[in-house]
Amino acid sequence: MQVIKKQSGAAFKLKKGQKLKVIDPEGEQVSDMVLFNAKDRREKLSSGKTLDFEESILISTGNFLWSNRSNKMMELLEDTNGRNDFLLAPCSPETFEVMYDYEGYHPSCFENLYTNLEKFEIEPDDIPTAFNIFMNVQFDEKGKLSVDPPLSKAGDYVLFEAKIDLIVALTACAAEDSNNGSFKPIHYEILD
Ligand SMILES: [Zn+2]
Repeated sequence: MQVIKKQSGAAFKLKKGQKLKVIDPEGEQVSDMVLFNAKDRREKLSSGKTLDFEESILISTGNFLWSNRSNKMMELLEDTNGRNDFLLAPCSPETFEVMYDYEGYHPSCFENLYTNLEKFEIEPDDIPTAFNIFMNVQFDEKGKLSVDPPLSKAGDYVLFEAKIDLIVALTACAAEDSNNGSFKPIHYEILD
């Protein structure tokens, strides 16, 4: 099992058929995930394609994550929490400036994604909307959004299966609001 320390990230390869288990060890902790085709990094995770083909804005067990080229990248085999977000971009330095009037350096998922993906020659502008595991974004009938505390409890996990050879990046989200005000680690396992 691998540990992503609080407010940090990791990137690694996942072969077709391998499984990835993303675990919230303490509860109420979001993990942002982005995916790229390991053989052609211009093919990447697409929120728009996924919500379109899965006909839902709530993605959980039995759903697939699709690419910008309309190919299946992952299947969600198990999801013990059941609430994930695929609407919001990864938190970035600007998130804290624009939304929270925060001044000075603040760690962010965006930074933790692109710095870990540098070794695969993936640049900041390549980062798509992340699949935000355990993130609890609620919306009313007028479309008003709110970021609520995650519903995940200690030990909740999502098990994914790779449908093609992938480059995967994962974070332990660095935003106060997404994680009910505290920062915890994320654990993950690669299973053959
Ligand atoms: Zn974040």
